[in-house]
Amino acid sequence: MCRKIHQESLSHVADDRINLLGLPRTELESFVAERLAAKPFRARQLMKWIYRRGAADFSAMSDLAQDFRAQLATVAKISVPEIVTEQRSSDGTRKWMLRMDQVQGIETVYIPEPDRGTLCISSQVGCAMDCTFCATAQQGFNRNLSVAEIVGQVWLAHRELTAEGMQTRTDGSTYGRTITNIVLMGMGEPLANYRNVVPAMRIFMDDLGYDLSRRRVTLSTSGLVPQIYKLAEECNVALAVSLHAPNDALRNELVPINRKHPIDELLAACWHYLDKQNGRSVTFEYVMLDGINDKPEHARQLARLLRGRPAKLNLIPFNVFPGTRYRRSPAATIVRFRDILNENGVIATIRRTRGDDIDAACGQLAGQVTDRTLVRLGSRLNTVSRSQAEV
Ligand code: SAH
Repeated sequence: MCRKIHQESLSHVADDRINLLGLPRTELESFVAERLAAKPFRARQLMKWIYRRGAADFSAMSDLAQDFRAQLATVAKISVPEIVTEQRSSDGTRKWMLRMDQVQGIETVYIPEPDRGTLCISSQVGCAMDCTFCATAQQGFNRNLSVAEIVGQVWLAHRELTAEGMQTRTDGSTYGRTITNIVLMGMGEPLANYRNVVPAMRIFMDDLGYDLSRRRVTLSTSGLVPQIYKLAEECNVALAVSLHAPNDALRNELVPINRKHPIDELLAACWHYLDKQNGRSVTFEYVMLDGINDKPEHARQLARLLRGRPAKLNLIPFNVFPGTRYRRSPAATIVRFRDILNENGVIATIRRTRGDDIDAACGQLAGQVTDRTLVRLGSRLNTVSRSQAEV
C-alpha cells in the first residue's frame, strides 16, 4: 500500500519535470536560478555533462553536490529518444530508427569518412513538401520534431559512437569515431520547423554543446524563401538548397514549393543570406534523374543561372526506392553533366552514394510515419490558390 502511494506520487512528479536536453543556454541559466536558486555556472556544468560527456542521469554528475543532484532530479530530467533498430552498411554507414512517441519513428544516419564523420538528422516526422523523387514525401507528414528530439538524435549517435569507437591515448585522453559535421538532410523540411530547428542548431554550435563551427552545421532546404530571409537575421550556418532543375517549368514538377517561390526569388534569398551571414557559398543539390533533368542543355541552363555566383553544385545520383517512377542517370551522363558545368565556370562535384544497401542514402529515409495528416504540398497547390497555400 505504502509502496503504491509512493509510486503514484513519483509518477506525478515525473510529469512536471522539464527536459533539459535541447534547452538553450539562457533558458537553462534562468531555470537553475529560478527553480534551484543556483548560480549560472551550474547551468554551464550541466551542459558539459549532457553534451560532452553524454550524461542522462544526474547521479553521475560527480562535480555537483549530492543535494543539488537530488533536487535537480525532482524538477528536471534528461529524456532522449529510444533506438528501435540499427543497421550497418558495408561501407560503414550506420542508420538508426528512433522512436519519437508511441507510433512515430524517424531515421538518423552516420556517414564515416577518413577525415570526418557526418551525422544526417531529421527535423520532422515525414514531410509535407511532396518532392516527386523523395521517399520521405511518400510517407506524408505527421508532425514537427521538438528541440529535444532534434538534439536527441545527436546525443544518441554520440553515445553509440563513443561507446564503441573510443580509444585511449597514452596521456589518458580519448579519440575515436566522432561527429565532426551535422547536416539537416534527413526526413523533413527543416525550415518548415524553424521554431525548433534554430535552437537545436544553436546547441550544435554552442561551445558547451557540441561546439561545431558554423561551417560544419548545414541546413538543407527545398526553398522556403521567407524562412531563408528570417534565418539570415537570426542564425549563421552553412546553407544547402535543393535545386534539382534549371528552370521553373521543370522545378514546378519536381519540387512543388517552386510554384510558390520560383527560382529567381529563391536565388535572390540565397545571395541575401550569404551577404548577411558573410558566408562563402551556397551548395545547390541536384538529383540526377535519367532523362528528366540530366540533359546537356540543362547543364548549360544551370551554368547560366549560377556562373559568377558564390555557388557550388552537388550532383546526387538518384537513389531508388520502392514505387518510384524515376531511374538514376547513367554514370557517364552524370560525369558529362559535371564537365559541362565545370567548363562553363561552375564548380560541380558528384556526391558519392553512401549506405544505399541499408536504404540510408539521400531520399531513402522513410522512418515510420503513421497517423499522417496527409498534408501534401503538391496536392494543396493544385487545389488551393497560391496566396492561400501556407507553407
Ligand atoms: N527537405 C530538405 C532536406 C532533406 S533531403 C531539402 O529538400 O533540402 C536531402 C537531399 O536529398 C535533398 O537535396 C533532396 O532533394 C535529396 N533527395 C531526396 N530524394 C532523393 C533521392 N531519392 N535520391 C537522391 N537524392 C534525393
